Amino acid sequence: MAKMVIDGALSDSSNAGTFNVINPATGDVVDTAPNASLDDVRRAIDSAEDAFKIWSETPVHVRARTLIKSSQIIRENRDELATLLTKEQGKPFFESKFEIGILSRLLEYYGGQGGRISGSYLPPVEKGRHHLVIKKPVGICGAIVPWNFPVLLMGYKIAPALIAGCTMIVKPASTTPLTDLRCVELINNAGVPKGVLNIVTGPGSIVGQELVENPKINKISFTGETKTGKQIMETSAANVKRITLELGGSDPMIVCDDADLDKALSAALWGRFLNCGQACIAVKRLFLFEKIAPIFKQKYVELVKTIKIGNGLEKGITMGPLNNPSQRESVESMVSEAVSSGAEILTGGSRPEGAEFDKGNFYLPTLLSNVSPDSRITTEECFGPALPIFVVKDLEEAVSRANDTIYGLGSSIWTKDINKVTYAMDKIEAGTVWVNMPFEVNVDVPFGGIKQSGLGRELGIEGLEAYLESRAIYIGSS
Ligand code: NDP
Repeated sequence: MAKMVIDGALSDSSNAGTFNVINPATGDVVDTAPNASLDDVRRAIDSAEDAFKIWSETPVHVRARTLIKSSQIIRENRDELATLLTKEQGKPFFESKFEIGILSRLLEYYGGQGGRISGSYLPPVEKGRHHLVIKKPVGICGAIVPWNFPVLLMGYKIAPALIAGCTMIVKPASTTPLTDLRCVELINNAGVPKGVLNIVTGPGSIVGQELVENPKINKISFTGETKTGKQIMETSAANVKRITLELGGSDPMIVCDDADLDKALSAALWGRFLNCGQACIAVKRLFLFEKIAPIFKQKYVELVKTIKIGNGLEKGITMGPLNNPSQRESVESMVSEAVSSGAEILTGGSRPEGAEFDKGNFYLPTLLSNVSPDSRITTEECFGPALPIFVVKDLEEAVSRANDTIYGLGSSIWTKDINKVTYAMDKIEAGTVWVNMPFEVNVDVPFGGIKQSGLGRELGIEGLEAYLESRAIYIGSS
């Protein structure tokens, strides 16, 4: 049975409750995780509170050294962690390995950013007076993590929090707690003092809710559904908690008629189907210029048919199952609703056939055309391997339709025309615009959304600032 980490010690639930973690490819139980009681959560919070007094005053180079060491330990255990991640999450092993590598990189990157925590000196307005701005850690933080990139998204939160001098309690998603539990254990083994980094498991509506409600927690960092993010925002208001929210997306990809089609096709393939389409920055709506639309669709269908579906631990598999049954049902219902309002299935549109798929949450990669702009697959976030394709006459129409959503996370444009690039850069409503390149997220570039895709930024220096508060100091003469 997997264990939580509370106050530096491996812990079961105090009421001995557990829950099963299911392999989404086989339906087998991977392991059990503790079902934390409210007492367990409060014990973790108290421990983080005690540890904050020490950790926030630990010299930054010592905090940095600990992060760098934990980065190495994660890297050394990469294969073991990636295997566990594929078992509980479903993604192919090579994707899991990549994800573990990012956690290691995040710990290393933020370990190296300790020296960037600095304040400023402002010119006095009167002789003998001084004005300073110093930076203080926000305090005790809760990290609520989803199941699509459980390890990487935990890293987005713990690495900047720890270097800033904050302490943290992580609450992973209930379908993917195991790799996060093991990573937190390893990071603690790297010499992080007890109580600095805790992890508790159990339902979001109880364990997560307690983190959001508890007045001792100063900040919540959350990635997940927009609806849950709104609830967290509302509950946090009671204590004016700091919040960072990374929520849903409905990213547009615009392919103009002068684009390098091979590059755009390759990006569309992985932009939509990486992690079985379960990414906040996956391509969720594809806009093709009229002239290239027929050839692009034909080649895209051919490429999509080369995706090899199956258990992510098997060799050659390029797409695993959806993480849980309700995700598959959600995608299925969006596809069937689109079809009943006139959409045409270009490829996919059903579960794959064969005994090897019977027990998993598999769904064929699916492309749709003639989709009504009012159907849910267009207006809501489709978090799985199905993509509506639209044909547009020019960039103005493409951008206007791209912006016709409550979301504003990522977007991309493919063209050789600098005027189209600058128009898109300026007019697309999104936290990130990729131009002629795939959906890269670099640890030192701020990441986040506008509109209902979130609040605040993770990664880069902005991601570090999110765990710091400015304190103004006025000094007069005595
Ligand atoms: P949720 O937002 O419900 O879950 C994300 C995390 O929040 C999990 O750890 C969950 O715990 C926790 N949580 C749930 N309810 C609460 C609460 N009231 N208070 C505190 N924490 C809570 O997403 P779902 O897993 O239900 O996925 C639904 C949809 O959300 C997806 O189809 C997708 O559209 C979107 N999503 C977006 C993600 C992104 O990267 N932007 C990531 C994941 C989902 P538990 O697992 O125990 O419920």
